[in-house]
Parts: sequence; C-alpha cells; structure tokens
Amino acid sequence: LNRRLAAFGTTIFAEMSALAVRTGAINLGQGFPDTDGPEEVREAAVRALRDGRGNQYPPGPGVPELRTAVTEHQRRWYGLAFDPDTEVLITAGATEAIAASLLALVEPGDEVIALEPYYDSYAACVAMAGGVRVPVTLRPDGDAFRLDLDELRAAVTDRTRLILLNTPHNPTGTVLTHDELAAVAELAVERDLLVVTDEVYEHLVFGAEHTPLVSFPGMRERTVTISSSGKTFSFTGWKVGWVTGAPELVTAVRSAKQYLTYVSAGPFQYAVAEALALPDAYFHGIRDDLRAKRDLLADGLTDAGFHVFRPSGTYFITTDIRPLGETDGFAFCRSLPERCGVVAVPNAVFYDHQDQGSPFVRFAFCKREEVLTDAVGRLKTLA
Ligand code: PMP
Ligand code: GLN
Repeated sequence: LNRRLAAFGTTIFAEMSALAVRTGAINLGQGFPDTDGPEEVREAAVRALRDGRGNQYPPGPGVPELRTAVTEHQRRWYGLAFDPDTEVLITAGATEAIAASLLALVEPGDEVIALEPYYDSYAACVAMAGGVRVPVTLRPDGDAFRLDLDELRAAVTDRTRLILLNTPHNPTGTVLTHDELAAVAELAVERDLLVVTDEVYEHLVFGAEHTPLVSFPGMRERTVTISSSGKTFSFTGWKVGWVTGAPELVTAVRSAKQYLTYVSAGPFQYAVAEALALPDAYFHGIRDDLRAKRDLLADGLTDAGFHVFRPSGTYFITTDIRPLGETDGFAFCRSLPERCGVVAVPNAVFYDHQDQGSPFVRFAFCKREEVLTDAVGRLKTLA
C-alpha cells in the first residue's frame, strides 16, 4: 500500500459490521436501512433489466431519463434549474462522486477544508488526490454540534482550494442553518474557493430545513453538489449517486469519473429516475418515519445514561459516553457487543484531533421499530 493510503486501513464500517455478524449483536454501527426502498422502484429495476434497458454500457454522464429526473427533483424541491445535458453527472454512489470531485479539482499540495468529524472517505480521497486536509472541528454545545464560523474563516489560507462541506452532517446530525450556510457562501466568494457539498441526507431532516448551498449568491459557478439514491430511497446497495453543478465543474468531475468506473450500472439508473419522480408524500413519509425512530432511540439512549445530541438530520445519533463513566469510545464500542449485544461506531475515527472525538459514539436508527426497541432494552442494562 502506498504512503498516501497507508494510514487508512480498513474502514470502520466494514470492521463494525463484521463484529456484529461475528457476535450476533444488533448492528447500529454502519448506516444502512434494514428495510428496502419502495416496491414500485424495485419493480422498475426489474423491468429495466427485462426490457434490456441499461444492460450494456449506458452513456458516460448517465442515462438521459435519470439526468432529467435529477434536474426535475432540484426544481421541485429547491426551485433550482440545471441543464440535464451539461450540469448533471450520474456516479457510482455519492462515494464515487466525492472521489471524482476531489481527484478532478484538487492539485497536489492544495488544502481542502473539511468539517471534523468527517465522513471517512473524505480523508482518504483528499489523500489520494495529493491534497492536504484541514479539519475544522464542530464543537459540542448543549444538545448539538455547531460550526464555529470564525474557526472556519481562520482555516482558509492562500493554499486553500476548496471546502468539502456536509449538511445534514454525518455523524453529528447537525443541519447547518440558513445563516451559517450564507456565511460559508460569503467566505467562499470572498476567498474565491470551490465548494464540494455532500448533501446525501437532504431529505432526512426533522424540524430543521435543508437549504442547498448552491442556492446562495455567488455559489452557482463554484459549487459541486452531491446526492445519492442510497439515503433518500433506501437502496444503499444500488450505488447510484449524482453530481450537479456548473458545466465546467461537472465536466471536470466527469473527466475523473471516466477513468474510475467509466459509467455506473445501467438498469438501476432507470429505476432511480422513477424514484425521483415519486410524489411528495413518499419523501415526507420516509422523513416522518425516521423522525419517530430518532425519538425512540434518542429517548432510549437518554434513559440508558448517555448524553444524547438529538440530530436534526441524517439517521445517526451521536452520544457522549462520559455520563456512563466511560471516556474511550473505541474501547467502549469494542466491548459493547459482549456487554449488551449492540454495535455502534466510535466517532474518533472521523477526527484528526482524536482527543476531541474520543468520548463520542454513533448509533444508527434506520432500523425497524422492533429492532430499535430491542436495542434500547439491551442498552438499558448498561446503566
Ligand atoms: N456521504 C456521506 C456523508 C454518507 O454518510 C454516505 C453514506 N455512506 C456517503 C457519502 C456515501 O453514499 P453512497 O452510498 O451513495 O456512496
Ligand atoms: N454512510 C454509512 C455510514 O456512515 C455507510 C458507509 C459505508 O459503509 N461506507 O455508516
């Protein structure tokens, strides 16, 4: 393994899911739903396969039906207009979109600012692109983690190329407010930065409102927005994601994507095009369902003695384990299956400043109600 990747090892998600399988514990570690997405969308994939749509290499930027569906989704939910031919790229999940964006836009030695804790692929992709990551730490404040805008401003140097943003934010569940996003946008314009913004949890927000960063003044020409069917439609195994942005940016990302996967799997693209056109009720339904699950797990964790940061978005809850008399999230997560039959993820893996992340542990709530109820019962035995 080369020096760029040597530090990264096995992703925590694979490690923790393997631990869950080995111990038979309830897996609230890796974020994936235990119920598949809508049946009509699965049927659409079967139809595409049977009808021979997408069984051979689809067009490089993605099938036109899906690119158009992505633009219609941006118009319906945010009033944003994109050209399906020049401003949309279909990728192999958001993961490839992140990798291709960084490989396309970062020069060796460029600094990339990312909110810490950060989704683990960010650090590896910045490294693969030869960039230097500059973490800006979200600070716990009562029941939420918040971005300190002064710290963000102070992190920008003459070598900063781009900000890699994530809202709603994994793992903290923070949804950046309109004012915070406006300040990020202002900074990007003032310092002439690009922003790659990972908004995969755009529809999974509870009480808060998600505003795409690209909708702020001056951002249209400097923002690459990423989303994915894995989250909104509960098909994490399909690996269909997308990028929207100005033509020069999307063309650049596409240049990298060509040599990563060339194209993404065909039949699923047709099915996701149908998913994006589902009525508003579908999108509200998954949100409301997850909000009830958030409350179930958050209340259970509180009863079990954790300090809970109740998330405004995503399907993750970050907790502080110090009220349980614990300080080391890694050790806690390694012992948890044996102690009570539940798997969680130590947030420290998402930090450069390990000491900052040490007492925090993440639980996923994208699981059936009875599974969450069972998990809560087990966690209460810790107290
Ligand atoms: N970004 C974030 C913040 C995520 O949580 C995930 C989910 N694993 C991804 C990107 C990757 O999405 P996908 O499964 O579509 O590659
Ligand atoms: N996004 C999910 C999580 O954060 C799963 C990621 C993965 O398995 N790579 O848990």
